[in-house]
Amino acid sequence: MNLTIHRGAKEIGGTCIELQTAKSRIILDFGLPLVDDNKEPFDAKGIYSKSKKELIRQSILPDIKGLYKDDSPSMGAILLSHPHQDHYGLLSFIHPDIPIFMSQGCKLLIEASYFFGQTECKLENIQTVQSWKPFKRGDFLITPYLVDHSGFDAIAFLIEGEGKKVFYSGDFRGHGRKSILFNNILKNPPKDIDYLILEGSMLGRDKGKYETEWNIENELTAQFKNGKGLFFVACSTQNVDRLVSIYRACLRSDRVFVIDPYTAFILDKLQAVSSNIPQYDWGKNIKVFFVSNSYTEKMAENKSLFKFKSARITYDEMQEKKHSLVVKDSYTTRKIFANKNNLDSSVLIYSMWEGYLPQVKPFWDKHNIPIVMIHSSGHAYIEELQAFVNAIKPKWIIPNHTFYPAKYTGIFGNSILILKDGHTVEL
Ligand SMILES: [Zn+2]
Repeated sequence: MNLTIHRGAKEIGGTCIELQTAKSRIILDFGLPLVDDNKEPFDAKGIYSKSKKELIRQSILPDIKGLYKDDSPSMGAILLSHPHQDHYGLLSFIHPDIPIFMSQGCKLLIEASYFFGQTECKLENIQTVQSWKPFKRGDFLITPYLVDHSGFDAIAFLIEGEGKKVFYSGDFRGHGRKSILFNNILKNPPKDIDYLILEGSMLGRDKGKYETEWNIENELTAQFKNGKGLFFVACSTQNVDRLVSIYRACLRSDRVFVIDPYTAFILDKLQAVSSNIPQYDWGKNIKVFFVSNSYTEKMAENKSLFKFKSARITYDEMQEKKHSLVVKDSYTTRKIFANKNNLDSSVLIYSMWEGYLPQVKPFWDKHNIPIVMIHSSGHAYIEELQAFVNAIKPKWIIPNHTFYPAKYTGIFGNSILILKDGHTVEL
C-alpha cells in the first residue's frame, strides 16, 4: 500500500491524505487550508472563481489525478472524518461521481452549512457510514470509529488493505462529552496497527485553564449563578458539546438559554442523530429569539422558520427578564441590544478559539462589557495522545494536522515516520 500526505504533514488544516493499492485509491479528508505559505490566515475568498489549473499552481488544490470535475474519475472514495471545513472545505471541486463517505451527523451539518451559504460544498454523492461497521471499497476494508471531538459525530478510520493496517485518527480528544469513546479505545484498541496517522494540534499549544467540558459546565454554572446581569455567550453553533454545556448550566442556575433560529435549526436537524441534544421545545429554560438576518430569511423561504414559533421570546420579554437570561451571541443579537442602549451590566462569555476574539473584542470594549474566557480545546492534550499511542501500539506513527512534526519523537519515542507534503511512501 502507498501513502501520500498531499497536505497536513506540517500544518493544521487543509488535510488531504491518499492511500493506494495496486487497484484502488481513496482520499482521507479534503480540507480548506487554515494558513497560507507564510502561516498567515488563509483567505478563501475568490478561490471558487479560479480555474483548477490556477489553484493547483498556487498549491491551494493538491495535484491529484482522477479526482476533479474535469477529469475522468479514478478515485474510489473520499472518507470524511468530521464536519470542519479544514477537513472538507475543498469538496466542491471534486468529480460528482466519486462517493464521499461520512457519518450522518457530518452529512447533516455539511448540508446545513451549504443551505446557509457558509460553504460552496453542495455534495451530490454522500454515503453515510455506521460506526464500527466495516465496509469494502475496492481493495480496502474500512471501519469507522466514533470519536470525541468538538466537530459533531466525528470518526476515525481503520483502513486495511494488501496486508497492512492503517489507523487515521482524524481530529479527536479525550476530555469532551463523549470521552467514553476515547476511554473505550484505550480499553479495547484496534489491534496490530502498522501505521497510526496521528493528529497533533495541541503540540506547541497550552491546555488552558479549563481542561474538560465538565469544567466548562461547572464554571458557566458558577458565573450564571453569581452574576446579576445579562450574559451573552459567544460559541460556535456547530460545537454541539458546548451548546449542551451552556444549556445544562442554564438548567443548574435556572436561567433561560436564548438561541437564534439558526441555532434552533441546527439542533433540530441533529435530533436525528441523538435524542440528548437540547431542543427549542424542551420547556422554560430554552427560548428562541427571532432575529432578522440572512439565515432567518433563508429559513422563512423554505418555511423551516415557523417550526420554532412556539418557543419564541420577544425583545420586550427579554428586557423584562434580562437578569435571568443567557443569550447566544450573534452579530444581529448584540447589535439589537446595543441599539436600544440595553447592554449595561452585561457580561460576554467567550467560549471559542481565542484566534477569533479580535473580530468581536472592539464591539464589547466599546460598550465597556467585561469578557470572560471559558473554553477548552477540541483536540487531544499531549498526555491523551500518549495514552492513545500506548494503547494502540502502532509500529509507526505518522505526524499529521500539526505544526510540529519534529516534536513527535520526543513525545512518543522513535518510531516516527515524518513525511513531506506530496511525497509518496510505500507502507
Ligand atoms: Zn476538527
